[in-house]
Amino acid sequence: MTSTTGISIRGLTKTFGGKPVLDGIDLDIAAGERVVIIGPSGTGKSTLLRCLNYLDRPDAGLISIGDLTVDAAHARNSDILGLRRRTGFVFQNYALFANKTAIENIMEALITVQRLPKSEAVARAKAVLAETGLADKADSYPAALSGGQQQRVGIGRAMALGAELMLFDEPTSALDPELVGEVLDLMRRVAEQRQTILIVTHEMQFAREIADRILFMHGGKIVEQGTPAQIFEAPQDVRLRRFLARID
Ligand code: ADP
Ligand code: MG
Repeated sequence: MTSTTGISIRGLTKTFGGKPVLDGIDLDIAAGERVVIIGPSGTGKSTLLRCLNYLDRPDAGLISIGDLTVDAAHARNSDILGLRRRTGFVFQNYALFANKTAIENIMEALITVQRLPKSEAVARAKAVLAETGLADKADSYPAALSGGQQQRVGIGRAMALGAELMLFDEPTSALDPELVGEVLDLMRRVAEQRQTILIVTHEMQFAREIADRILFMHGGKIVEQGTPAQIFEAPQDVRLRRFLARID
């Protein structure tokens, strides 16, 4: 697993229907750093994550992940594939293939994006299922799993890629409250491996515990950033103060 490379983003811009959603994002993330993004809804958090692997196409900016630098305005297919090879994405709604079993969901990108031989993909998927505590669910379809188990498959799928950057977009916000804990526990395990991770979450206690740095986004910009202590105990920007006052 590669975990020795950093991330650099410069002037990342995205407009939807004439409305600027990312307004020139500059962000550096050190190798192994754990960064959490907080902020009100509609502020561009998901779009930022999605632009990093071209689930959304940025309008302009530079994205560097490890040894690959992509000029967003002129990205070629090989650039996009390169970013996708270097990132694992965990979605709010799990985004599992309903017609594939847990192990097949984990194997899919290993075969199609990483081009591993099937036997190797099976071995890696089995190891990840064991790590996520789902060894006995390998052949279960998503519909037969709880939301927490489905999301653990989603995280396992991203872990299996051994990607340089793990992106989590509100991974627990679709879950019933009693299922949140098992997913946060697995994310703690991912974080302990010191993979570089960027997490959008509204779980403030978790953010405080896990983050090396917290970014507060508002209106397509990073308007404040700091350590958890700085953000939670000494917020500066009035928009951050208002946001924190609304969340327990
Ligand atoms: P957040 O994750 O912070 O809640 P998003 O990144 O999802 O915010 O969305 C930011 C803004 O961009 C919102 O106003 C949203 O409606 C808009 N937006 C996001 N995706 C699309 C899309 N595919 N088409 C049009 N507008 C979009
Ligand atoms: Mg979002």
